[in-house]
Amino acid sequence: MVSIEDAQGIILQYAAPLPVEEVPLLQGLARVLASDIHSPFDIPLTDNSAMDGYAFSFGSLRGDRLAVSGFVAAGHAMRDPVPPGTAVKIMTGACMPPGCDTVVPVEETKPLPGEIRLTAPVRQGSHIRRRGEDVKAGTRVIAGGSVIRPQETAMMASLGMSKAAVFRKPMAAILATGDELLPLGEAPVPGQIVNSNSIAIAAQITEARAKPVDLGIAPDDFEATKNRIRQALSEADLLVTTGGVSVGDKDYVKVAIEELGGRIIFWKVNMKPGKPVAFAVLDGKPVFALPGNPVAAMVGFEMFVRPALLKMAGGSRIMRPVISACLKSPLANKGERPQLVRALVALEDGKQRVAVTANQGSANILSLVQSNGLLKLPAATALAAGDAAEVILLDREYFDERCISPGKTAPSSPQPSP
Ligand code: AMP
Ligand code: MG
Repeated sequence: MVSIEDAQGIILQYAAPLPVEEVPLLQGLARVLASDIHSPFDIPLTDNSAMDGYAFSFGSLRGDRLAVSGFVAAGHAMRDPVPPGTAVKIMTGACMPPGCDTVVPVEETKPLPGEIRLTAPVRQGSHIRRRGEDVKAGTRVIAGGSVIRPQETAMMASLGMSKAAVFRKPMAAILATGDELLPLGEAPVPGQIVNSNSIAIAAQITEARAKPVDLGIAPDDFEATKNRIRQALSEADLLVTTGGVSVGDKDYVKVAIEELGGRIIFWKVNMKPGKPVAFAVLDGKPVFALPGNPVAAMVGFEMFVRPALLKMAGGSRIMRPVISACLKSPLANKGERPQLVRALVALEDGKQRVAVTANQGSANILSLVQSNGLLKLPAATALAAGDAAEVILLDREYFDERCISPGKTAPSSPQPSP
């Protein structure tokens, strides 16, 4: 049985970045930029006014008055030199007129007929944005491998780009297995269970910035399982199955993968929940066979599939942040497997504190709903209240809420409508 860390290392060896494609700038959002971006020109392109005011030559200033000899607005440039001793009314962003080296803001002038009076001391060269002062031509403005955020989009747009070269978005197929499963929206009778895994995994795939391809439910039948797996890999870059991977009489997923020519790289990871996870390579594509229990499946996705998807999408920061937090109550693991305990981290009195959520059964989705992290609890360990524990931070929702306004409690559940 491999450790969680070894399993992650093995998986990443098989997850290669997908090819690069060019997409319209907005479609590049949240995707990984394939190569460095250099500015082809100076920003700003020319000296221009930083204020609405008056431009003039400082050296030609005599006294505190200047005749106004012209006007230049943003988007316009003046060709002719400004007569010495006169000023040009200038708007923010307009190119500096030839012969002018100083701008005085309108607030520091008093208008008089045909001229202005300066009402405050003026410094030579003031209120001008210099050519190239933000970025010199040739400077690397965005590093390849960055995830494109709105600000990177803004930068590329300001360079005149309308497309971005990004890694292709991974298409991840999902196949649920189990005779007991019902499609969403149907009411289960005893013995049946709604297929919550497919949508849960699709949500996780989407959150990992990949594209889910839902292949529905395969019955617990060897041939059907095989056919659906074959179909999945013809349509997707990666496959996630749930259920049918343990030691049950009708657990066909592993054998089906092998029968199709796939190689099981490992089966079973030393962890709780989610031990019976298998990782295979079939047609050169990663296949993750996750257990059927909803929490085990989602935790398995989090630990193994998510890093692979992020790497395939060209990402380099692929692991969640791990923080240290003080336990609010004692916590023990008497078993031999390290546990990933669903937990809620919050900032309280300036300290990161962590509490275990709900019943930790591997089918209890509530324990995940109430959590924002997975606490790493080693095997055969007893921790006391106040002890430090490592927590994988899954999201910052509750955490930030406390950060912003200390003392504020987590949001209460919505009131039932009358
Ligand atoms: P298995 O791993 O196939 O033995 O399934 C373990 C448990 O997970 C069983 O109780 C199943 O009913 C449940 N389960 C399996 N697949 C799903 C699914 N797609 N959605 C929700 N629960 C599931
Ligand atoms: Mg099953």
